[in-house]
Amino acid sequence: MGRAFVYVILGGGVAAGYAALEFTKKGVSHGELCIISEEPVAPYERPALSKGFLLPEAPARLPAFHTCVGANEERLTPKWYKEHGIELILGTRVKSADVRRKTLLTAAGETISYKFLIIATGARALKLEEFGVSGSDAENVCYLRDLADATRLADVMQTSTGGNAVVIGGGYIGMEVAASLVINKINVSMVFPEPHCMGRLFTPKIASYYEEFYQSKGVNFVKGTVLQSFVFDPDGKVTGVNLKDGTNLPADLVVVGIGIRPNTSLFEGQLTLEKGGIKVNSRLQSSNSSVYAVGDVASFPVKIFGESRRLEHVDAARKSARHAVAAIIEPDTTPEFDYLPFFYSRVFSFSWQFYGDNLGEAIYFGDFSGPSFGAYWVHKGHLVGSFLEGGSKEEYEAIAKVTRLKPAVDDLSELERQGLGFVMALSQKLPVAPVINVGSSVSAVVLEKPLYPWHATAGVVVAASIAAFAY
Ligand code: FAD
Repeated sequence: MGRAFVYVILGGGVAAGYAALEFTKKGVSHGELCIISEEPVAPYERPALSKGFLLPEAPARLPAFHTCVGANEERLTPKWYKEHGIELILGTRVKSADVRRKTLLTAAGETISYKFLIIATGARALKLEEFGVSGSDAENVCYLRDLADATRLADVMQTSTGGNAVVIGGGYIGMEVAASLVINKINVSMVFPEPHCMGRLFTPKIASYYEEFYQSKGVNFVKGTVLQSFVFDPDGKVTGVNLKDGTNLPADLVVVGIGIRPNTSLFEGQLTLEKGGIKVNSRLQSSNSSVYAVGDVASFPVKIFGESRRLEHVDAARKSARHAVAAIIEPDTTPEFDYLPFFYSRVFSFSWQFYGDNLGEAIYFGDFSGPSFGAYWVHKGHLVGSFLEGGSKEEYEAIAKVTRLKPAVDDLSELERQGLGFVMALSQKLPVAPVINVGSSVSAVVLEKPLYPWHATAGVVVAASIAAFAY
């Protein structure tokens, strides 16, 4: 049993949806393209799962957040794929791949062959068991990577109102889920080994701004330690956690966000790997010329830093997917992928954006007791990274434009004195850059300055959160 396609996208997440849209823009014919996904639904905007999906009122549900609404583009429902002659092979895991023969074998035993393959398998959530802790398959221990995880988490949250949640991990997932739990009136303790939250990106000063706010909402931070074991009731439900430092915390719900591992295993020994992902060139092409890799699974050259990186962020997934399609269909006219790393998050009424790299010395600006502040990173005499909380559309555009240029900075105190004015003045002299959308229905909210001071009352914060929490 088998089918043959010209183009196959393996994986049905964010990158797959954006690649499909790009294929149709480039004129793919009916029957030429298929997407194979383990998930039972068409590609969707994964960031929605820790934001709008977990709201207590009017939560986001499919089909509202199918790709590509996160970039203000068409919403690709199953009907759209049908109308465009794109085969969606859903609920189907590929269990092996043979890049020499250009075939994939599904768990159902079907062989699917391709001329060009785009690997968009993303990543999986790391499990506690990989760190020697057992019991994370209990009904009230949740991970958050896909729709099934989010559905389970939303269900457990509903039965835990007024109770206690322990969030393991202080990164993106931990911070966003903790905010959702608070909004759902659940008491939250966050446990992580680092000295502050978002350890990979934030400096202690930036982290303390958010931590103080979380604490004002009742979040209890337990830092410098890790989970050692669970406490179970006779039904196998977790009722508490024991930490390595001896602390015991009661738990009606545990959410684990301790990182991800790229899904490369099908290609190990067949394609060159790098930085935990599939190594690709600036055309997103792997060590096999018929195979491309995009999104979380790809390690690609980041031109402005002169080295390859694997990024775990939605903007990189969207843009690398589009670029790979262009490189396949229009190889002679598609330039090298020249990507400026861009991350964002929205929690409570906060909204921040980060561009570039957090290397070197951090120079702060703005009012850390008010609604808008930021930081630049200066490395070897050049501005290489910018962070801004609570910026306006023009301000976010300006930090993106200027960071891409890596301008020379001779005087750090002058940069500190000028603050945001530095990028605003410099960006006026530059040509207009395309606007980076971070979410469709939210862009108007996200890209405007928050209306409220950071110490707003609970009611205001919840209202703002609901408006700003989407995709
Ligand atoms: P994914 O979207 O993970 O898609 C991979 C797909 O491949 C899945 O459908 C999977 O089932 C499928 N697959 C894997 N292996 C197989 C196989 N063998 N056979 C068949 N199918 C397979 N980034 C931000 O920048 N900002 C945010 O605010 C943000 N929030 C996030 C919130 C959550 C809850 C999560 C989980 C991620 C968030 N991210 C965020 C990260 C962002 O969603 C990812 O970077 C993005 O989804 C990567 O896209 P991808 O297509 O590479 O992988």
